[in-house]
Amino acid sequence: MDQPPQRQAIKRPGALLFDMDGTLTVPIFDFDAIRRDIGVPEKQPILETLAKMTPRERAAAEVILHRHEERAASQSSLNSGCDRLLEWVRSHRLKSALITRNRLVNVQTVLARHDLQFDVVISREDGQFKPHPQPLYTACKRLGVSHDEAWMIGDAVFDVRAGRAAGIKTVWISHRQPRDFAEEPWRTVNDLGELLTLLCGCVS
Ligand SMILES: [Mg+2]
Repeated sequence: MDQPPQRQAIKRPGALLFDMDGTLTVPIFDFDAIRRDIGVPEKQPILETLAKMTPRERAAAEVILHRHEERAASQSSLNSGCDRLLEWVRSHRLKSALITRNRLVNVQTVLARHDLQFDVVISREDGQFKPHPQPLYTACKRLGVSHDEAWMIGDAVFDVRAGRAAGIKTVWISHRQPRDFAEEPWRTVNDLGELLTLLCGCVS
């Protein structure tokens, strides 16, 4: 009699590359409100639209954007399961990076507020940002891992696009919402607890 197909064991990653806002922290950004406030058309990416503005328009828009970002960082709370997940990462000596489109000052606020540490932090001051694959390659290089050993973990289309462009396995955190973009992540989990379950089931 035919046996049911066995699920192939997944190899434990050599490093985890985390998005910050909405992935580690509870998603509180109202991107539509930010777009409205700074005059970015509906559904357009904010940073990329700012880059096309005149210097004067851009400076005015950045004041508003920075205010939203700073407030979100200073009021941030961690997603359920974040502490347990990061404790597991530490206890298994997995390398970790934080890769965000946010600014370094806000990363520092979030890390200090929740007493978090990552081996590598890449913010938008570091050059090209997600969905460009470069920050993922930079993180792997600085962590000393090959890109095919790493997993990208994120809640947004930018994370999935960047991961796919870099050829890095990408786990999309859905927060139990339907996917509203076309790009297929490697895996989808509802939350950080499910991500930990996935990691615990990996073979070393
Ligand atoms: Mg995010």
